[in-house]
Amino acid sequence: MSQFIDGKRCEAISGRTGVVRDPSNGEVIAEITLAGPEDVDKAVQAARAAFPSWSNAAPVDRSNVLTTLARLLGEHAEEFAQLESRQAGKPIRLAREFDIPGTVDNVAFFAGAARNLEGKASAEYSADHTSSIRREPIGVVGSISPWNYPLQMAAWKILPAIAAGNTIVLKPSELTPLTSLLFAELADEAGVPAGVINVLTGSGAECGAVLLRHPQVDMVSFTGSTRVGRTVLEAAATSAKRVHLELGGKAPFVVFDDADLEAAIHGAVAGSLINSGQDCTAATRAIVHRSRYADFVQGVADLFGQVKLGPTAEESTDLGPVISPTHRDRIAAMVDRSRSYARIVTGGAIPGGDLAAGSYYQPTLIADAGKTSEVIKEEIFGPVLCAMPFDDDDEAITLANDTPYGLAASAWTRDVYRALKATKQIRAGCVWVNDHIPIISEMPHGGMKESGFGKDMSGYSFEEYTVVKHVMFDLTGTAAKGWHRTIFTYPQVD
Ligand code: NAD
Repeated sequence: MSQFIDGKRCEAISGRTGVVRDPSNGEVIAEITLAGPEDVDKAVQAARAAFPSWSNAAPVDRSNVLTTLARLLGEHAEEFAQLESRQAGKPIRLAREFDIPGTVDNVAFFAGAARNLEGKASAEYSADHTSSIRREPIGVVGSISPWNYPLQMAAWKILPAIAAGNTIVLKPSELTPLTSLLFAELADEAGVPAGVINVLTGSGAECGAVLLRHPQVDMVSFTGSTRVGRTVLEAAATSAKRVHLELGGKAPFVVFDDADLEAAIHGAVAGSLINSGQDCTAATRAIVHRSRYADFVQGVADLFGQVKLGPTAEESTDLGPVISPTHRDRIAAMVDRSRSYARIVTGGAIPGGDLAAGSYYQPTLIADAGKTSEVIKEEIFGPVLCAMPFDDDDEAITLANDTPYGLAASAWTRDVYRALKATKQIRAGCVWVNDHIPIISEMPHGGMKESGFGKDMSGYSFEEYTVVKHVMFDLTGTAAKGWHRTIFTYPQVD
């Protein structure tokens, strides 16, 4: 039963099936059905039918069910952590301490935010009128999410949309749909009415692409690669749908000559290896002042050597597999090609032994790749960090910005003026100073340039999922308004 439509689990009408595998050993952990066009239509109709009542519910009613959902999610945290760890190949520590608590907090945040949808206060901007703003839900949202943080990405899509009064059809990645389905079931138990949240398990081509083009979907929100993001824009153009895109990244990690080097080394290791590097904000390009470059490279290599690859269920495991053998082989091929133009300082191999059955890849540090090389330009999306030196601050900022992406970045320095300049000049949706990765429900997440547009999390995400309506009241009560004389002067009624 791997579709969740209109408040209940059901099979796909398409009759097609697939499997979900544990990336740490390749074992099948679930058999699923794969939605096709008729299933998409069924889910969209359910969302359409639920919209009038949900969009007219008082904010406090929407808030109350989300508060209950946050509590239930907290109570089921371990179940979610186990399932997320297995389907996405996450070390259990990461799922327990990051993915699940982050999602619980996000639900709790949107439970509060649902009661704080603000518009501009009423006022007279002309002598003859009172203006006010209504912030209204858009309708049915079609959302598509990726496999790297399955539950968090589902929550980032679902929560602002429904808190603002929309209804949603979410298609998670077919590689990792299980926690999104469980989340929808728990939302039902919390009191979210049937049809408000629908989850379709299916492929991009046969389910996602159909959802994007469905005439009764009013908005599409997408998190995934820039390549697929472009097709989302094309599909949305067919019926002028609102679009929200969270796409790829290639985050720079800039270490100035005055940086606390130990902190920068720790930050680079954690910031590049989190989630096996399958994080759109992960540190991928360490741009390091030449005077500190050799020490930085050595320090990162030493710590990479201490990171423990292992079974995801073990508490002591630091680094799990990547999502699939296909993805691992793509990473390995990129690293192998870089041998001809760069230096593999550590890693660069597929581990054997007990880990051979899973899609593991060693933490890998590549030094001295040229600024136009493949590993510097392309998203690798694996446990691979590239390091390159710079000579002066302007060059560092130029290198940081020398990418089509603009999602996240960090600057490492003890000089407040340098930090301020870097945060202003680096073109990315988030710039950390002396840290890299932390996110927080109150603050927006989203990119610039080819990393997409629109914000997840925070009150800013309501701007994505609501439309601003201007309401203007005549104050004169007259038939012949003053401004009519610009069009005609007869008959004079007053
Ligand atoms: P992907 O683009 O391959 O797939 C994302 C989703 O799109 C999946 O659900 C997939 O089934 C669906 N899809 C694929 N082809 C489609 C099509 N033609 N029409 C409609 N849907 C289609 O991305 P992925 O490999 O799942 O995830 C990794 C990518 O996501 C990376 O590029 C990463 O940077 C990005 N990402 C971005 C953010 C962010 O917030 N900016 C967050 C997480 C991941």
